[in-house]
Amino acid sequence: MLIVPEERIAELVSPEAAYQAVEAVFDAMARGEAYNFPVVREALGEGRQYGFKSGLDRAGGMLGVKAGGYFPGNADRGIPNHQSTVMLFDPESGRPLALVGGNLLTALRTAAASAISIDRLARSDSRVLGMVGAGHQAAFQMRAAARVRPFERVLGWNYHPEMLGRLAEVAAELGLPFEAVTLDRLGAEADVIVTITSSPAASLRDAHVRPGTHLACMGTDTKGKQEVEPALLARARLFTDEVAQAASIGECQHALAAGLIAEGDITPIGDVITGAHPGRAGADEITLFDGTGVGLQDIAVAACALAEALARGVAAEVAI
Ligand code: NAD
Repeated sequence: MLIVPEERIAELVSPEAAYQAVEAVFDAMARGEAYNFPVVREALGEGRQYGFKSGLDRAGGMLGVKAGGYFPGNADRGIPNHQSTVMLFDPESGRPLALVGGNLLTALRTAAASAISIDRLARSDSRVLGMVGAGHQAAFQMRAAARVRPFERVLGWNYHPEMLGRLAEVAAELGLPFEAVTLDRLGAEADVIVTITSSPAASLRDAHVRPGTHLACMGTDTKGKQEVEPALLARARLFTDEVAQAASIGECQHALAAGLIAEGDITPIGDVITGAHPGRAGADEITLFDGTGVGLQDIAVAACALAEALARGVAAEVAI
């Protein structure tokens, strides 16, 4: 079995490669050639979450599982709150192929999903990016969004305003002006809004968001988390990575529970990629991508890391 350590991932998987890998696996899911297994997610107490996301991609010849979770005390220890590892198996024999560090991969595959949604669903004339959230993932999200639309400025809001400096730094790195604003202003001026928080209650309200906006709601990946008001989902055309996850652990869980939407209102983004769904219907439509994070995304980017590590001869081999 091969080991691809966390420290190697940055040199092995570029954001562009992650984008291609995630788009390919969403496409395979839509064609019925790849599917995710049910998610296991457990609360460990004191805000810690741990779980397993797994799946099989027949088209790409990939089988695997990501084990990991969210440990809110980690920031104080100087390590990311998200900790994860991906294990890849040979889908024919079940033999373990590789253990791949999953922390950076998680950020890359999550940002890739959000960028795919922006590329496929946001208005082509989108110029203002609104960021709700300023934690570890937010920087990756902003960089990935800037790759798919020529944004001219970034507006940011965070529940903890002292964290907004991080967004300003990333915007500066991208050469974009940044302004910390109220949610009223963010919603009134942004063409694309990315939400990436661990909020337990809605911050962004229906009334904040103007027609024509695309939202990538990326933070809600567990029962009980919530970033936007359910009425906004009722007004928007809804897309997701996987409908079952959107309904159970995604942002859609709340609008479904309130009876404001039905599962049939939610379209897998893979259907837009294959061309089975036309995507945005007009310049005034609100599109909302509920990015819950599926196991196949993790497997796809881990397979990418493994292939590159093998090509460069940097994977360590251990007997198992
Ligand atoms: P982080 O701990 O680094 O940052 C947390 C963010 O949430 C900060 O912006 C913080 O201000 C905000 N926040 C915390 N408590 C809040 C509250 N009570 N109300 C409003 N906002 C609050 O976390 P991160 O690594 O940036 O992850 C952010 C979220 O994204 C988490 O919920 C995480 O589980 C989720 N996530 C989703 C995916 C996916 O595929 N969809 C992948 C990775 C992470």
